[in-house]
Amino acid sequence: MPTQTRSHREWSLSFFVQHEAAIIVGAGPIGLACAISAKRRGIDPLVIDAGALANSIVRYPINMTFFTTPERLEIGNHPLVCAGPKATREEALKYYRGVARAEGIRVQPYTKLINAHEIETRLGKASISWDKLVLATGYFDHPNRLGVPGEDLPHVHHYFDEAHRSCGLDVVVIGGKNSAVEAALQLFRAGARTTIIYRGTAWPKSVKYWLRPDLENRIKAGEITARLGTHVASITPGEVRVHGLGSEEAIPADRVYALIGFHPDLGLFDNIGITYERETGRPEIDADTLETSVRGVHVAGSVIAGNKISEIFIENGRFDGEKIFGSPDERARAQDLYQGIRRETGE
Ligand SMILES: Cc1cc2nc3c(=O)[nH]c(=O)nc-3n(C[C@H](O)[C@H](O)[C@H](O)COP(=O)(O)OP(=O)(O)OC[C@H]3O[C@@H](n4cnc5c(N)ncnc54)[C@H](O)[C@@H]3O)c2cc1C
Repeated sequence: MPTQTRSHREWSLSFFVQHEAAIIVGAGPIGLACAISAKRRGIDPLVIDAGALANSIVRYPINMTFFTTPERLEIGNHPLVCAGPKATREEALKYYRGVARAEGIRVQPYTKLINAHEIETRLGKASISWDKLVLATGYFDHPNRLGVPGEDLPHVHHYFDEAHRSCGLDVVVIGGKNSAVEAALQLFRAGARTTIIYRGTAWPKSVKYWLRPDLENRIKAGEITARLGTHVASITPGEVRVHGLGSEEAIPADRVYALIGFHPDLGLFDNIGITYERETGRPEIDADTLETSVRGVHVAGSVIAGNKISEIFIENGRFDGEKIFGSPDERARAQDLYQGIRRETGE
């Protein structure tokens, strides 16, 4: 019997041991697409997320615009209508919220899976049981770390939020891929004295064709300072100390953005007992059904590619639910769509 001290919500949580035909972990675009695939085959899955619905998009830079054209962010054939040629963060959040509502998807936010049969919420832990568990957990909760002294100082950030906050400050961006390049350009335009540091000796090929000339021209004009072939040695409250190309330097920094990528939660794979390649973080899967080495546990979306986070994104990951819940013919069609996108984008 409930004790006097427990609230109704705490009790409903502790009784959350009901069996679900399918639990989808992650209410990102791919988790929601998987839920639609399940629902269209008569299964009503429960979708849980450690954060808000579409939590990774919530954490995108505030005024961010997607690289991808809107039709390729669509799930369940719901049209994504946006004001400009590409969707903004706000438009995408509105869209995925709307799709979840229109499809009647049961989403339980702020509920984290900690092992195959246990979840955790603000109110504590509870047990779960399922026939099928789908991990669509992405990678965005786990930023890569520099591993240098000072990395945990309060002015060092692993997510880029908004350029305006840095107006009038010395800002160092660490990284050379799209997120870092875009952040550096926005920071410069918001009035920050911006330095971008990258360990490679040239900007990577993957930098989008409209960002590269903008960055190169800002560097040529002396508006953004760049240090290529440069490694961070340490971060102090006022400087980033670097070494590279035969020299050492202390770069003034009121704020530091270390935008050097992310990795999937390999600890969760360990907790569930999923076999994966230690070097790459790729789970061992049946390529047709995306089932892992643990019976009934599937993976979907970017988590499939392990540390190669630019291999599977919304554009191609959105077909994975069809592989998990579809017939052999539907799986083959999903695979064709996936390969088609990979050929076109060269990813
Ligand atoms: C700035 C930026 C711009 C991007 N632009 C594009 C673009 O233009 N086009 C494109 O296709 N892709 C783009 N991407 C990549 C895209 O965001 C990812 O590929 C996409 O979010 C992957 O979807 P997903 O559903 O697999 O994972 P996510 O969207 O990351 O969703 C995973 C969800 O799982 C939840 N979760 C994680 N662990 C647990 C747990 N243990 N228990 C419960 N919930 C958990 C997280 O809270 C999260 O909500 C961009 C990424 C960034 C950072």
